[in-house]
Amino acid sequence: MKLKSFLLAVCLSLCLAAAGQDLQSYVSPSPYRTVTVAEPAQDSDVRNIILMIGDGMGLEQISCAWVVNHGSLNVDNMPVTGLSRTYSANRLVTDSAAGGTALACGVKTNNGYVGVDTAGNPLGSIFDKAIAAGKKTGVVTTCRLNDATPATFCCNNIDRDEAEDIVADYLECGVDYIAGGGLKYWRERSDGRDIVAEMEAEGYSAVLDPDSLSSVKNLPVLAVLADLELPPALERGDLYRNMVKQGITMLSEAGGENGFVMMLEGSCIDDWCHAGEIGPAMEELMDFDRTLGDVLEWAAADGHTLVIVTADHATGALTLQDGDLGEGKVSVAFGNDGHNGIAVPYYAFGPGSSKFGGILENSELGRLISSFVSPQD
Ligand SMILES: [Zn+2]
Repeated sequence: MKLKSFLLAVCLSLCLAAAGQDLQSYVSPSPYRTVTVAEPAQDSDVRNIILMIGDGMGLEQISCAWVVNHGSLNVDNMPVTGLSRTYSANRLVTDSAAGGTALACGVKTNNGYVGVDTAGNPLGSIFDKAIAAGKKTGVVTTCRLNDATPATFCCNNIDRDEAEDIVADYLECGVDYIAGGGLKYWRERSDGRDIVAEMEAEGYSAVLDPDSLSSVKNLPVLAVLADLELPPALERGDLYRNMVKQGITMLSEAGGENGFVMMLEGSCIDDWCHAGEIGPAMEELMDFDRTLGDVLEWAAADGHTLVIVTADHATGALTLQDGDLGEGKVSVAFGNDGHNGIAVPYYAFGPGSSKFGGILENSELGRLISSFVSPQD
């Protein structure tokens, strides 16, 4: 017994030492001023829907970013909150493919499946519904356009890793504004095809240089602005915000009374939490929230836009262990390098927001968002 107690004590102290070693502190060099906006009237028509998905952005990530930005986030403007249960059809802990499919198509499917049901049948997404209703559509991501989350809105594949097949699906999707990274899978392909050229032949204005984005005049637009992911948040300046602003401007002008549906992803929060690096993860989340500030200001002025913010899952079993609001300092530890099964928050703003609230399955949340595309259905 004595030996057992001794070994237990050694184990415990080693574990504590290991946990202590994993504690990371972070203070951001780029805190920002958040906006304050009033929600438009509930009885206005919902013409436009902007769905923002923070990949891997659980309440733990949001809470840390709130501290790092000195106790203020733009998401605080969103009056309605609730929880989304994220488990997939075949796993308690989802991946981004099943998580994205639930939000995009309103159906829980297996991990790894992109826009298809558990039998592999293609599912219609909110974009398909929007296009049928005469709306414009747009997708903006900081990762590769073939990555699971954007792909679930535009593509159908039983395997999220079939990057070249997924990219080729953008030819069929009919989405009007496409902006993200992953050029490699559009041009340096094993089948020799140049999907950028094929999209141009279909009428798309192709933009491959971030500096040219603001000069593009006509929809549809294909902007593939990096070989793989976009540069990290601290290196890319306002690129993500500009991709979003350009999209909203073009889609709102072209959509007019019919409106538009956009999905904006903050992709790399997830990657940095997989890597166990709090600093870059916070900067990605803060860039996402800073962009949300632009979106909310636009939506408040427009008056006909429903804005939803949520996540597909949380990543890294992150714990906020200490810190200082005044200094904007967090001390955190990551418990693992994978996803977890904890429910994630969702937030709603704008006409229709009062229909949200409470605990929803991620697939119910997807169907509820989609129900605003054609309320007469
Ligand atoms: Zn992940």
